Amino acid sequence: MIQHDIISKNISHIILISSYLIGQSTSGLNSDRLSSLMGIDLKDKTFNELEKIVVELGQQKYLAGYIFQFIHVKDVSEIPDITPLSKVFRTRLAERDYFISKIKTLEKQVDKDKTAKYLFELHDNEKIESVLLHDGRRNTLCVSTQAGCNMNCEFCATGKIKFKRNLSAGEIADQVITVEADAGKITNLVYMGMGEPLLNYENVIKSVEILNHKEGKNIGIRHITISTCGIVPMIEKLADEELHPRLAISLNAPEDALRSRIMPINNKYPLDKLIKAVQNYQNKTDQRVTFEYVMIKDLNDSARHAQMLIKLVRNISCNINLIELNPHPACIYKGSGSAAMKKFASMLNEANIETVIRFRMGREINAACGQLGADWLKKAKDSGSNGK
Ligand code: SAH
Repeated sequence: MIQHDIISKNISHIILISSYLIGQSTSGLNSDRLSSLMGIDLKDKTFNELEKIVVELGQQKYLAGYIFQFIHVKDVSEIPDITPLSKVFRTRLAERDYFISKIKTLEKQVDKDKTAKYLFELHDNEKIESVLLHDGRRNTLCVSTQAGCNMNCEFCATGKIKFKRNLSAGEIADQVITVEADAGKITNLVYMGMGEPLLNYENVIKSVEILNHKEGKNIGIRHITISTCGIVPMIEKLADEELHPRLAISLNAPEDALRSRIMPINNKYPLDKLIKAVQNYQNKTDQRVTFEYVMIKDLNDSARHAQMLIKLVRNISCNINLIELNPHPACIYKGSGSAAMKKFASMLNEANIETVIRFRMGREINAACGQLGADWLKKAKDSGSNGK
């Protein structure tokens, strides 16, 4: 049964959920194993890896399908609950230290536009957030890939929280499993939550494989987008993978001096290298690329910036998403406002660069782009510490 504790009805509903609601209990053996970092997490395994494990344990290969489905479709997090497996086999899995991890839902907030933000706790008490956006028939989940982030983009709340660690593929997949169990089918996935996905490359790619697999969540590869601040060698590596998710680049400035100022990663991978890597991705995958551009008042939103942006991307088949800067307690900037954004968008569209102003969803619960972690910053500010 779902219990809701509605704290505030004014702007948004803040719904506190006990660990028994969306996420299932991480009680007993399971959480003991997790906290001692022992054991091998079956949720972290691709379909092929599960087949290997099953065969190595002397069982028929097809049984891997049950394990995968029970974990990813039925949201089972205890090995004894995978009932199609023989008791002997289930016991053997547990004896060999296999287990199924489960993230714990601490809180869910729902904005009046229905955007939902979930706060999850990981086995080592680290916290991450995921955001569910409803848009017509699409349910898009924005997943986190790291606890914290060390990219230090000046305008982003997550960058103000100290980087803690990479998430495992199982922890990334579990965000989808857990939210879907609460809110229904996830149709689209964006790797745009906390962290820099391409700095957790192996686990991110593995999670894409897991979430795309037809025996599991079966999210179409064209419905999966990885967003990056521009880790050039990893964009090149991604181009050579078998699976090609859609690529989004957080551009945010059309010239090196400004970009390096607001996104320090640009010192390492400046725009000419980034644009070349994007072109290479496009050539190898035949995909349209998205550029995200956060609109910051009097910083990157003038006609001159629009002209430079047009020049920069004109040889790439792309679309541009303009996102108005979302405020948070550690941000010194202001958003451009709708008149400046419309003007900017029309200049790009007139130059035949498809540009949309992205509707900002979830702003009032700090669930919009760049706001993840803002609640913690606010708490830290209120208590006088710096949030790190
Ligand atoms: N590290 C990845 C994914 C996380 S950031 C990346 O850089 O793409 C997700 C998106 O939020 C990025 O496009 C980023 O530019 C944007 N963003 C960050 N802070 C923001 C803010 N305060 N307002 C609006 N968008 C922001």
